[in-house]
Amino acid sequence: MKYIGAHVSASGGVENAPLNAEKIGAKAFALFTKNQRQWKAKPLTEKSINAFKENLDKVGIAPEHVLPHDSYLINLGHAEPEALTKSRDAFLDEMQRCEQLGLKLLNFHPGAHLGKISEEQSLAIVSESINVTLEQSNDVVAVIENTAGQGTTLGYSFDHLAAIIDGVEDKSRVGVCLDTCHTFTAGYDLRTEEACEKTFNEFDKLVGFKYLRGMHLNDSKPELGSRVDRHHSLGMGHIGWECFRYIMNNDNFNDIPMVLETIDDTIWDQEIRELYALEA
Ligand SMILES: [Zn+2]
Ligand SMILES: [Zn+2]
Repeated sequence: MKYIGAHVSASGGVENAPLNAEKIGAKAFALFTKNQRQWKAKPLTEKSINAFKENLDKVGIAPEHVLPHDSYLINLGHAEPEALTKSRDAFLDEMQRCEQLGLKLLNFHPGAHLGKISEEQSLAIVSESINVTLEQSNDVVAVIENTAGQGTTLGYSFDHLAAIIDGVEDKSRVGVCLDTCHTFTAGYDLRTEEACEKTFNEFDKLVGFKYLRGMHLNDSKPELGSRVDRHHSLGMGHIGWECFRYIMNNDNFNDIPMVLETIDDTIWDQEIRELYALEA
């Protein structure tokens, strides 16, 4: 089974996210459990937590198919101790919010070396950040998202994802999320069935589908290998529909949340229907 949804709004409270997912016919969704552009957030209230769980149950979406996204401010690969501690504290808070909501996954961007240390050193710091967070939390899986490789960000190659996982002690609580736009602009072709086969075989060889815990389904405004992160609506960018047909008909993508982060939220319901219609 394929579980498709979108990154829906949690404005007015996290409990609204499941209802927003239902409105667009989603079977999965992503959300921010706090304002993604601020460091601090008020703790979730008991009322909000209970309403979230009730609404999730009501719309029939399993906690396993919800893929919360962390704040954009967090950099788990930071070279400077003070900034690193701030990021680790914020990441732990995000983990605990997921735990409180009864969720199983937390999607995050690995971080950036900011030109202060090497990629290798920064990747090792990311692994250690995951280790210290997992020690202080329960159940939730840290899901590393691959990136376009803009600026000094880590995670644009499958080797980076493998290196981070390699440094994590509890392998049962680490996974990855592949964003199709990021994969493509990082230099992995997805424009044809053959290209998808080659790219995903390489992913399987270097990382392994057993670590795949989610997908972000986006087309791309920039060209292959541009290292620029700009999403587009499905079929309207440089990737095109073949990639999504491939994913919808490949069992490696079964039973994980697959989330649209495409730019026009008014057509998400239509994009979800179009994706399901690609299943042979
Ligand atoms: Zn992301
Ligand atoms: Zn993404």
